[in-house]
This record gives sequence, structure tokens and C-alpha cells, in this order.
Amino acid sequence: MRAGVVCAPMQPLSHPDSYYAATAGGMADHPPLAGDIACDVCVVGGGFTGLSAALHLAERSYSVVLLEANRLGWGASGRNGGQLNSGLRMNPTDLVARFGRDEARRLWALAEEAKETVRERILRHAIACDYKSGNLLAAVRPQHVKRMAEDTACLQEVLGYKDVRLVSRDEAAAMVDTGRYHGGVFDAGAGHLHPLNYALGLANAATAAGARLFEGTAATAIEPGGAASDRATVRTAGGTVRARFVVLGCNGYLGRLEPRLASKIMPIGNYMLATEPLGEERARKLIRDDIAVCDTKFVVNYYRLSGDRRLLFGGGETYSAQEPRQLKQFVRSYMLRTFPQLVDVRIDYAWGGQLAITLNRLPHFGRLGGNLFFAQGYSGQGVALTSLAGKLIAEAVAGTAERFDVFARIGHRDFPGGARLRRPAAVIGMLYYSLRDRL
Ligand SMILES: Cc1cc2nc3c(=O)[nH]c(=O)nc-3n(C[C@H](O)[C@H](O)[C@H](O)COP(=O)(O)OP(=O)(O)OC[C@H]3O[C@@H](n4cnc5c(N)ncnc54)[C@H](O)[C@@H]3O)c2cc1C
Repeated sequence: MRAGVVCAPMQPLSHPDSYYAATAGGMADHPPLAGDIACDVCVVGGGFTGLSAALHLAERSYSVVLLEANRLGWGASGRNGGQLNSGLRMNPTDLVARFGRDEARRLWALAEEAKETVRERILRHAIACDYKSGNLLAAVRPQHVKRMAEDTACLQEVLGYKDVRLVSRDEAAAMVDTGRYHGGVFDAGAGHLHPLNYALGLANAATAAGARLFEGTAATAIEPGGAASDRATVRTAGGTVRARFVVLGCNGYLGRLEPRLASKIMPIGNYMLATEPLGEERARKLIRDDIAVCDTKFVVNYYRLSGDRRLLFGGGETYSAQEPRQLKQFVRSYMLRTFPQLVDVRIDYAWGGQLAITLNRLPHFGRLGGNLFFAQGYSGQGVALTSLAGKLIAEAVAGTAERFDVFARIGHRDFPGGARLRRPAAVIGMLYYSLRDRL
């Protein structure tokens, strides 16, 4: 860890005005940190990564303090599409080509464990988060179908994943009421959930396991332990935490807290809306089997039905910290390209959040200076992988790092321009691909 990495304190923010915040259950208030305390592990960030790490560590009898700058689940974890996807953000054939069969199988098996970890937590803690199974990846171009056939064969035959099957153009049209798809892959082993309620369920479970959670408490500096002390110090406006280990789970909201991690990720703004409730009949005409859907555009459209039968639709992204003005109109225009028949439907909520991508779209796990662990850069695949990250970090803190290292040994390059200039360089590349979506 570096001494004196300083981050300006922020004013704590409440949850954005989203469908998720409006339907949040079990939200407890946690006080800000006031005073100086000590613990075994200080977790920074109260999203899925931090909450999962805190829960797994507390269950292993470590004393855990978690610091969240705003509210628990305030970041991407409380705002996302809720799609619990299989694997990593890399096509299976590319995964095998890059890592070889054995390592690709290890990565795939861990990604499977990620989904299972989420489902197991939901059951064990009775988290009411509307979990449903089944995801469709829908092809927006004929050539994507060919690629899907290769990937599906690779999944079934090389990686041993049998829960996927190809879907014809006609079947896709029966499953989703849009004429836009040339076919797809149905994944019965994936699913979807209410992400904020899942995050709050993890928070309540972590508290019950003994973790101390603080909201409205931004870590402003992390100072390493040195010769004089084996403990790191995490500074906040209201006090300090002295800890043997620090876990960073700030992802797209890391800011300047740890520049060595910031250069490996780029924050991207992603946007969603919730329609008015559509009623059972209209909702199920849209998405027959209540599954989640994601298309193959570079700037993906993803959607599903909520528990109360709204369409939750994600579309559009930005590469600056600036949110589009007229957010409802912005996301609605993507929705209408997929579902023009919804032109009469009222949009009740629109919101956005920041996720972090890496250059190779694989998650970035690791440690700095021996006692700082981090996981970030899930590249849009964090609903499942974050829960695994917390579990593997807890294992590594306890001294067994083999499984954590399967991810930690993945090489990651800095974004061109590093943390300061990465945006302009990456934006040009992103805009090129998003332009191709429109051709
Ligand atoms: C609109 C949108 C849709 C998405 N859809 C999907 C999807 O369908 N499926 C999927 O798999 N992934 C999806 N993602 C990505 C997914 O949400 C993320 O990968 C995941 O939530 C990351 O969790 P996290 O805990 O690492 O980070 P976050 O949930 O972003 O949490 C980081 C937390 O750290 C806190 N923090 C930052 N700095 C400090 C500090 N100095 N001190 C204290 N606290 C700090 C922040 O306040 C924040 O609460 C989506 C993301 C967005 C934005």
C-alpha cells in the first residue's frame, strides 16, 4: 500500500430515484464512523463486492468494519440490470483460445460457483429479491448466430456446460415480442433478480454475522502498515480504522483513492428505465417466459420484467461522468427500437450508474503490498462475479489463495493514457464500435 493516498471527502448521497430504491425492502440505517477503531479487516465500498467480502469474512470470525461513502448498495450494485449471467465477459471460444482448455475450465467452474453462491445466499438468508431463472442472448445480426453456434458447442463440449441451447429465429420471436432477432442462445442456468434488495439482504446477513457497517463514511486515505506497525490505517472525515487487512471494492466509483488500480479500469455510465406496470397479459406477451434478455449489440440492450410487471430496460451508455439530460427520453429511444409497440407506455423511472470495464473485459483481482486486496473491473458481469470475489478474498485473507489466484494471475494492461487520460483514448474506440451498432 502507498502512504498518504488521499481522496477528497464526499457529501454522502442517497439512492437515486430508481425503481429499485422505490421498492427496496429491509433497508436499515447505519451510522457514519465517529472515532478511532481497530479490526482485522477494513472493507471499503458497500456494493456486492464489499458486502460479500464482509459477510464471508465475518462468518470466518474475523472482526470486520465496512465503510460505505453513501448508502449500502448505492453504487452499481443497487442500480443494475439484475442479470445473473454465466461465465465471464469473453466468448467461450476466445476464453479457451486465450487460456487453454485447463485454465479456461478452471475459470468457467469458478464463474459457475459465482452464480451458485448468489443463489445459495438468497436461500440461506431468505432474501426477497424476485429471483427468476433463464436468460436469452439474442442475435441482432445473422453472423452473430454463427458465432453463437460455435460458442454453444464450445460450452457444451469443452467447458462441460450443458444448460445452454441454440434458439431459432422463430423461437426467439415467440419468446420475445420483437422481430429484431435472428436467433439466440437460451441459458437455463442463468437468471435475474432485484439487485438492491439482494445487496440489502447481504448487508443484513453481514450485520447478523457480526460485521460493523458504516454509511456516509468515505475512506479518504489508506496508509500502509510499516516497520512500526503491522496494521494499515484507513482515514475518514470522522475517524480512523486500523486494520490488519484492507479490501477495496469501489469499482466504477474508485475515483482517486488508489491510482494504481484506477489505471486498469475505465468507468462507464450505463442507463435503465422502468415503465409503468403493464399488467400480466401485456407483460407476458412481451417476454413470454419471464426471462432476462440481452442482445448482441456492442452497446447492449438488456431487459426483463419486474416483480410487479413493469419492463425494466437498459440501453445506452456514456464515457464521461456526465449523465445524459432527459434521461427518460434517452433510454426510451433505445427501448422503442426494440419494442415500438410500447410507444403509449408511461416511463416511471430512469436512472444510471457507473460500472468499470478492463481493457480485456476480464475481472481484475489482486493484492497490493501484501495486505490490501481488491476486486474490480467486472465489465458488466458483476452481479454474479462480485459474490464470488468476496468469497475468494475471504479465503485469501485466511491464507488459502489458490482460487483467488486463478483470477489474480490474469494479466491486465493500463488503459492508454492511464487513470488521467484514459477517457479520451478509450472514448474514440468505444464510439467507433457503438457507431457500428447503428449500421
Ligand atoms: C446500469 C447498470 C446495469 C448493469 N447491469 C448488469 C447486469 O445486468 N448484470 C451484471 O452482471 N452486471 C451489471 N452491471 C454491473 C454490476 O452492477 C457491477 O459489476 C457490480 O455491481 C459491481 O459491484 P461493486 O460492489 O464492485 O461496485 P459498486 O456496486 O459500484 O459499489 C462500490 C461502492 O463503493 C463506494 N465507494 C467508492 N469510493 C469509496 C470510498 N472512498 N469510501 C467508501 N466507499 C466508497 C461507492 O459509494 C459504492 O457504493 C450493471 C451496472 C450498471 C451501472
